[in-house]
This record gives sequence, C-alpha cells and structure tokens, in this order.
Amino acid sequence: MNYCESPHQKTLVLSHSEIIISMRYNLIKCSCGFSFGSTKSQNNYCTKCGSTSNLKYIETFDNADQLSRAISFANIPDEISHELISKIKQKESKVQTNRTNNDNILGGLSILKKATDKEGNLTKSSLDKFLSEEGLDNSSSEYLIGQAEVQGLLIRINENTWNWLS
Ligand SMILES: [Zn+2]
Repeated sequence: MNYCESPHQKTLVLSHSEIIISMRYNLIKCSCGFSFGSTKSQNNYCTKCGSTSNLKYIETFDNADQLSRAISFANIPDEISHELISKIKQKESKVQTNRTNNDNILGGLSILKKATDKEGNLTKSSLDKFLSEEGLDNSSSEYLIGQAEVQGLLIRINENTWNWLS
C-alpha cells in the first residue's frame, strides 16, 4: 500500500493542519491552586497534583509565549507577589529620595554657576572664595564639583579648572 498517494494520507494531512489552526493555548487552574497550560480542550490533568477534575479554564491565548508568561504570573505565590509589591513601593520611595537629592544638587549647581567666570571656567579657588563670601564655608567645593562631574555637567580641563558641558 502506497500511503503517499492514498486519499487517506491527504485526509490526515488536512486534519493535522486543522489541528494547528484550531490550536489554543489554554491557561488552566486546578483546585489545588496550581495553574498550568494546555493546548488540549479536554483530558487535561494538573501537572502538580495530577487531578483531572476541578480544572477551571481561565483564559485562552494565541501563542505559547503569552501562555507561558500567564502561567508564571499565575503561579507566583501570594507571599512573593506581596514581596514584589513592597519592593516596587520601596523603589518608588527611593525615586522620591533621589528627587530630594537632586534638589540639593541643583542648589549646589546654582552656586557652581555663580562661581563660574565669564569665560565659562569654574575654578576650585573661585568656588572656595564664593562659598566663604556666601558664608557657606561648610560646603565642600570638592564635593559640589564632584557631584556636577558625576552628573556629566562639568568636565575637568586642568588641575584647578572645570568647564560646563551643559
Ligand atoms: Zn492540582
């Protein structure tokens, strides 16, 4: 029997492509709390506890990528998702702290700008002089210049002189 030429083979090929077209990526949740994916619409079983009943279809996706993301998200234990949320909150409050630091740096920046001469040169000695004139002796000129350097605002052109990049 020649399978390649048989009409039976053609039918098989057709039904195979039909399966691909109709393939769905289902997110299924078991009553044990575990979520898993399946491309089958029936005869599924929980890959964690093996249960074949109490399976609930949550959502259907178009591709395996979306499904796998949904599965990992669905299986994040509650305590970890709480941890994630608190980490995100911590990060947000850190951003606010950074904003406050930036305000301090901006305050320092205006001092640096004022200590800059007409040619746009900022020298450590002119900054020291300016700081003492303003009664800001406690502010370190090295620190202020260093901060502006780190921010990419100043570039050192020689041992005692910096130029503005912005
Ligand atoms: Zn289960």
